[in-house]
Amino acid sequence: MIPPGETIGILGGGQLGRMMAMAAARLGYRVHIYAPEADAIAAEVCGAFTCAPWDDAAAMRAFAADCAVVTYEFENVPVAPLAAIAPTPLLAHPRALETAQDRVNEKTFVRALGGTPAPFAIVDNRADLLAAIDSIGTPGILKTRRDGYDGKGQWRIMTPADADAIELPEAALIYEGFVTFFAEFSVILVRGADGDIRFWDSAQNEHDSGILALSTAPASPRVQEQVPAARALAQQIAQSLDYVGVLAVEFFATEAGPVFNEMAPRVHNSGHWTVEGALTSQFENHIRAICGLPLGDTTLAAKGVEMRNIIGDAAQDWAALLRDPANHLHLYGKGAVRPGRKMGHVTRLTL
Ligand code: AMP
Repeated sequence: MIPPGETIGILGGGQLGRMMAMAAARLGYRVHIYAPEADAIAAEVCGAFTCAPWDDAAAMRAFAADCAVVTYEFENVPVAPLAAIAPTPLLAHPRALETAQDRVNEKTFVRALGGTPAPFAIVDNRADLLAAIDSIGTPGILKTRRDGYDGKGQWRIMTPADADAIELPEAALIYEGFVTFFAEFSVILVRGADGDIRFWDSAQNEHDSGILALSTAPASPRVQEQVPAARALAQQIAQSLDYVGVLAVEFFATEAGPVFNEMAPRVHNSGHWTVEGALTSQFENHIRAICGLPLGDTTLAAKGVEMRNIIGDAAQDWAALLRDPANHLHLYGKGAVRPGRKMGHVTRLTL
């Protein structure tokens, strides 16, 4: 067990790291952030900050030497430089990163476990794309295999002719058949160092232009019917990776049952509602798990919860929002407002 008072290292400096750091601080831990960007918003709430590129082995070694355990809030952190963290433990194990960083790897892995991803094919050139469209059909989505998030690096292909208009990037790609779904939902679990697993209620998620806009828990009865099968797959993923910490798995709810979309080996935007809406938040349980502490109760703390992201133009009447006692406002302290940038979120409880 890593007792309160010790230092937890977090790789990545965004809002997830910031909220994780706040949960760690509440339990009496010190937090040290490692991030390449000088304006890391997570560092603003922490005592220590190493601002260095991911591949700076000396900086990574010095950072790890200051920490009792290291975790990450960003799944695209390059895996090779993480070797410099040893002998300090790194949780979740980097094999979870290797799996989740590549859309082909994660779908292949999930299929081997008996899960159902969207039909997919590897695309390295235009001939591959045409062959993929031929075998899988349209509509479909061409995506970069790596480094995609919030709908970035994606091209919708509604008819085979659309492929001609796409200038293929240098990156490795995947073509996915378009899944006809009636809803999207996520399974978020935490697995402790002793193998104990807890699930939060599955939130139903609505996206706008590929970006999560709204998460609602509990999900509709029709979606909830699909949760047991989705949980079974998420549990298998966690167990086969010997995972420690919070794991999020996103699903499409279809007439034929849950279809795996993607996994995130970290706390997840669709679990932000757990801060006020569950007895223990995803952030606190992640800290508890990586420190070897007993996991907290994940039960809903209200009849219902709704989490709405504040995206792009953040100028709103905060006072009016806070005047409503059902609202809980989280702002991430990001300076520059850009279209599509997540600036904060509002959680609304129905008591
Ligand atoms: P992703 O970044 O891959 O999770 O994609 C963002 C969003 O795009 C998803 O949450 C879905 O709303 C939509 N999407 C992505 N892939 C597919 C697919 N194969 N079929 C249908 N919708 C998809």
